[in-house]
Amino acid sequence: MTKTLKGIAASDGIAIAEAYRLVEPDLSFSKTSVTDVDAEIARFKKAVEESTKELEAVRDKAKETLGEDEAQVFDAHLLFLSDPEFTGAIETEIKDEKINAEAALDDTAQKYIAIFEGMTDNAYMQERAADVRDVSKRLMAHLLGKKLPDPASIDHEVVVIAHDLTPSDTAQLNKKYVKGFVTDIGGRTAHSAIMARSLEIPAVVGTETITSDVKDGEMVIADGLDGDVLINPTDAEVKEYTEKGEAFAKRKAEWKKLKDEPSVTANGKHFTIAANIGTPDDMEGVKENGAEAIGLYRTEFLYMDSSDFPTEEEQFKAYKTVLEGMDGKQVVIRTCDIGGDKHLDYWDLPEEMNPFLGVRAIRLSMQNPDIFRTQLRALLRASAYGKLGIMFPMIGTLDELRKAKKILAEEKADLVKKGVKIGDDLQVGMMIEVPAAAVLADQFAKEVDFFSIGTNDLIQYTMAADRGNDNVSYLYQPYNPSVLRLIKHTIDGAHENGIWCGMCGEAAGDDIMFPILLSMGLDEYSMSATSILRIRSLMKKINTEDIKELANEACDVSETYEENKKLVEETMKKLNIKD
Ligand code: PEP
Ligand code: MG
Repeated sequence: MTKTLKGIAASDGIAIAEAYRLVEPDLSFSKTSVTDVDAEIARFKKAVEESTKELEAVRDKAKETLGEDEAQVFDAHLLFLSDPEFTGAIETEIKDEKINAEAALDDTAQKYIAIFEGMTDNAYMQERAADVRDVSKRLMAHLLGKKLPDPASIDHEVVVIAHDLTPSDTAQLNKKYVKGFVTDIGGRTAHSAIMARSLEIPAVVGTETITSDVKDGEMVIADGLDGDVLINPTDAEVKEYTEKGEAFAKRKAEWKKLKDEPSVTANGKHFTIAANIGTPDDMEGVKENGAEAIGLYRTEFLYMDSSDFPTEEEQFKAYKTVLEGMDGKQVVIRTCDIGGDKHLDYWDLPEEMNPFLGVRAIRLSMQNPDIFRTQLRALLRASAYGKLGIMFPMIGTLDELRKAKKILAEEKADLVKKGVKIGDDLQVGMMIEVPAAAVLADQFAKEVDFFSIGTNDLIQYTMAADRGNDNVSYLYQPYNPSVLRLIKHTIDGAHENGIWCGMCGEAAGDDIMFPILLSMGLDEYSMSATSILRIRSLMKKINTEDIKELANEACDVSETYEENKKLVEETMKKLNIKD
């Protein structure tokens, strides 16, 4: 019988395929003494042999499906398996201590990891600690008779099932075979969901129990439109969802026709619809979906995709590629926003009780001025190749903003002195995602060229509800009048001071939110590229004269999120507007 689960619709579309569990097995073991040392060493050798064979296969598959660069990490792992010093140390320990292979492996691996991590003046050697961790995990799995998931070796259509997916897991998914994903935890604005949208992979997150409900190879339907998951569906259900997927694809095809059209309302007013990107590779989607600008380039993905801090030159190249790719259209590049749910393996930061409220984004940049200045130099140099807006994330106080601007001005002066060309129309802006900044928007507006409202964080900080925690996802309320008042106050503050205001949080691409924002006069709407044409289609049907009062009603008359949802739905119905 079909088992159904309800989750949060995180990325549009319907996926129907076999389940692939990206779930780590339990690798705990007990330390025991052994009497037959030779047999134990033979058991270990067999695990090495099996791991080697498996890794070779994974590497070859990764080369084929993901490319040479992604496959390289497996070569590094193979090197350890064939290193007699590493495997020999484990065998010696089994012999000398008369302990089981699992305990000897764990002991030796911990020693190696400590040595590598201690090499603080050699970043390359420090990174080898991660290789030792991965290799010993594989060996341990073989010793314990368990199977590790190998997403790089996926070679047929699957729906990936995971407890959670980190942005780097998501980045490794091969779009050709991964038709969708379903997770236990996560919210619509968790970064894994945002990545799924940019990859156009249907996703349902926050189902709570999917990893215990589904086995490898079972058929799964992931409905990223409504957040439903069906395990072992009947033929009739497969048919029903195939049709639903086809209907969605048809609507998408209609939207595609608007690719080269300007973003104008029914009464001819133009508002910019821009794209959010995470890497220069996303430019393809930007072009395909006819974005008029880049409203947010999340540069932290450049740091996350790399095994060490990207150099100034690497960053310069990436930023220049995007600026040139946009042919003089506005590109807003945000300085690094590490922290919260975004980590770097090679940056060992102290554990925090509340990472989203801790040393994140501009706070981390300020505490690491060298890393910050490197990025600013790369940005300033790239500014000569297009129309750049440099944006600071998570600004909470004027003092923070002034300090960030001062550092930027120092780097700029230094480059100018050296004769480096800086773009004439470079703008400096900030995210409005901390409620304190939204409340003081009128004051901030006097010191920047633009705002971009980050609703993903603005909502989580206003409602005090972790954006990645599905247990409080009911508090993710973009249309709550409290959030809307902050947004309106921000837009008004910007306009009263003659600057433009955009929004790059996911709410900018939300069908209910959009008419309210339009009524508030928001200038720029930046979203996952895949949402652009849907919103352009909606914009074309709305006459701003008809929704003049909508913003005030939503902020001052409505009392709840639900009332505002209804208010917009009824307004659209009255105006006979369907998407
Ligand atoms: C936001 O907070 O709305 C935003 C766009 O930034 P991020 O999702 O990267 O935190
Ligand atoms: Mg944010």
